[in-house]
Amino acid sequence: MSEENDRNSAWNVPDFRPELAFPQLTEEMVERLRPYGREETFPANQILFVRGERQIDMFVVLDGEISISLPVADGETKILAHHRRFDFSGELNLLNSQGSLVDGQTVTETRVLRIPRNELQRLMRAEGDIANLITQATIWRRIGILGEAAGGVVLMGHADDAEMTGLQRFLVRNSYPHRIVEVPMEEAARPDDGLSDLEPSLPAVVLSDGRTLHRPTIAELADELGITELPDPQMIYDVVVVGAGPAGLAAAVYAASEGLCTLVIEGTAPGGQAGTSSKIENYLGFPTGISGNRLASRAQLQALKFGVRFAISRDVITVEQIGGIHKLLLAGGIPVCSRSVVVASGAQYRKLSVENYNRFENHGIYYAATAMESLLCRDREVIVVGGGNSAGQAAVFLSGIASHVHHIVRGKSLASTMSQYLISRIENSSRITLHTHSEIVTLQGGSSLERVAWIDRRSGDLTEKPIGSVFVMIGAEPNSGWLFGAVKLDKKGFILTGGTDGFEMTPYATSVPGMFAVGDVRSKSVKRVASAVGEGSVVISDVHRYLADHRDDFAVEPHSALAALRSASAATPLQPAEL
Ligand SMILES: Cc1cc2nc3c(=O)[nH]c(=O)nc-3n(C[C@H](O)[C@H](O)[C@H](O)COP(=O)(O)OP(=O)(O)OC[C@H]3O[C@@H](n4cnc5c(N)ncnc54)[C@H](O)[C@@H]3O)c2cc1C
Repeated sequence: MSEENDRNSAWNVPDFRPELAFPQLTEEMVERLRPYGREETFPANQILFVRGERQIDMFVVLDGEISISLPVADGETKILAHHRRFDFSGELNLLNSQGSLVDGQTVTETRVLRIPRNELQRLMRAEGDIANLITQATIWRRIGILGEAAGGVVLMGHADDAEMTGLQRFLVRNSYPHRIVEVPMEEAARPDDGLSDLEPSLPAVVLSDGRTLHRPTIAELADELGITELPDPQMIYDVVVVGAGPAGLAAAVYAASEGLCTLVIEGTAPGGQAGTSSKIENYLGFPTGISGNRLASRAQLQALKFGVRFAISRDVITVEQIGGIHKLLLAGGIPVCSRSVVVASGAQYRKLSVENYNRFENHGIYYAATAMESLLCRDREVIVVGGGNSAGQAAVFLSGIASHVHHIVRGKSLASTMSQYLISRIENSSRITLHTHSEIVTLQGGSSLERVAWIDRRSGDLTEKPIGSVFVMIGAEPNSGWLFGAVKLDKKGFILTGGTDGFEMTPYATSVPGMFAVGDVRSKSVKRVASAVGEGSVVISDVHRYLADHRDDFAVEPHSALAALRSASAATPLQPAEL
C-alpha cells in the first residue's frame, strides 16, 4: 500500500480526492506557521479532541502521528486518517462553530505545532496559499465524512412527514452529515413493537454523543449542532448582512476580505432561492451549470475563510437606528448591533389560491426541484406550474426522473417569460406536455396529495389525474415585512434605493443612513443570481465610504454605545414584527 493510501485508506466515497483532502505542508510553510502557534509534545494515546467538541485548535504534526477516527457500532471505531509529519488536523469545523465530527488521538509520542482558533483566523487572512490549502482540505474532508454512514447525526421519522422533510432539508442545505432511519407509518401503528411509544416524539435526531432531540425546532437543532453561531451581544459589528442568498454571500465575502468585521444573519440556510435550484446554467464560469446548493456552500466557505460569522436559523424581526448604530432584533429576542446593514433578504415563493393548498405544502406541493424532492416522484407523473425560468428548469430536470411532466401555465405561451434555451428543451421533450391557458382547480388526498385537477380556461376542459407532486414556481414576493415602517418600500413591498427622495447618491442606499439593500429585495433589481452577486459585491464600497464618512459618530467606546442603546431600547420597547 502506498504511503498516500495508507494515510487515508478508510475513505470509500466515490470520486473522493485524497490528494486534495490530505495535502502535506512544505517545510517552508510550516516555518511560516510557527509564529501563529506553539510547539507541544504529547505522549502516545493522548486524546486531542473528541466528537462534539467545539472551537478545536489546529494541530500540525512535526514528529509522530495522530489518528482520526469515527465511533461505529458496538463501541468499535473506524480509523479515517493518519496525520504524520507536516500533515494538519481539522475539517470544515476548523472554519465554523460546529462540533467535531471525529475523534483525534496521538498514536506515538507526537510533537505538534498547536495553532489556536483566534490565531488560525489571523493566519487565514495573512497566508493566502496556506489558507487555500486548508480550505480545500476542509471541503474534501467534509465530503468524505458526508459519505460515511456513521458520520454526523441520525434523523428518524416518517418519509412523508412535513416536520421530517423540514429537518432533512435543513441538514442537506447546511451540508451537515446525517443518516435517515425511516419509520414506516404502518410499523409505528403496530401496538407491540415498541415503535408506537416513539410515535408522538417523531421526528427525532440522535446526536453524536447519544442524546436524542425529539421534534426539535430548526433553531434548536441549529444551536445544538453549532450551525448557528449566536452573535456576541457585546460587539458592534462593522456590517451586518441580512440574508445569505447570492447577494448576501457576495456582500459578506467582499466585506470580510476587505477587513470589515462581518456577521451574516440567515433565517433558513445559505443559498436563498438559488440554493433551491437544481441547476443554474447562466452563471458565468460554469459552462455545464452548477447546482444552487453547491454554489452556496462554496460561497459560504469562501466567506468563512475570510472570517465571516454566520447566525443561521434566526430571522431578523425588527431593526431600528439609535445614535447612528443599527440595532437588529433576531427571533428569540437576540439583539445585534452594527454600524451598517446590508439588506439582502430576497424574496419568497408565491402560492396558488386553491382549496387545501396549505394542507399539502411539503406533502405534495413543493417550491424547489432538487435531488431531494426528485426522490419522491421517480417514475410518477408530476405537475410543474409557472412560466418563468425556474419552472422551465424544474420541468426539464424532472422530465429525467418522473414518468411524465405536465407543465401548467396561465398564459398563452412561454415566449415572453422564459429563456429560449429552456423553451426549446421543453418543446423537444416527449416527456413534457405544456398546458397553456390552464389553472389547477382541485387538490385532493389524505395525509398527502393524491389527485389533482386542472382546467383549460379557453376550452373549459377539465383534466383530473392521480398525481402526488406539484412543483409551484410562479414568482416571488419580497422578504421585507420585517422592515415595514422602518425603510421606504415601493407599492409591491420592494425596498426603494438610489439617489432619489434624499437618499444617499448610490444605487443601493435606502432611506435609512447606513442601511443598504441589494439583490431581489431591492426595487427594480434584475432578479438573477449574477446580478444579486454583482450588487452584493459592489455595495461594500458604499459601506466603506459610509463608515469612513461617519467615523467620528462611531468614535465612542463600544460599551458606552451599547449602554446608550440598551437604555434607549428600555425607554421605547421594540414592536413585534409586522410580518
Ligand atoms: C427554483 C429557482 C431557480 C432559479 N434559477 C435561476 C437561474 O438559473 N439563474 C438565475 O440567474 N436566477 C435564478 N433564480 C433566481 C435567483 O435565484 C434569485 O434572483 C437570487 O437567488 C436572488 O438572490 P438574493 O440573495 O437577492 O435573494 P434570495 O436568494 O431570495 O436570498 C435571500 C435570503 O434571505 C433570507 N432571509 C429573508 N428574510 C430574512 C430575515 N428577516 N432574516 C434573516 N434572513 C432572511 C432568506 O432565507 C434567503 O436565504 C432562480 C430562483 C428559483 C426560486
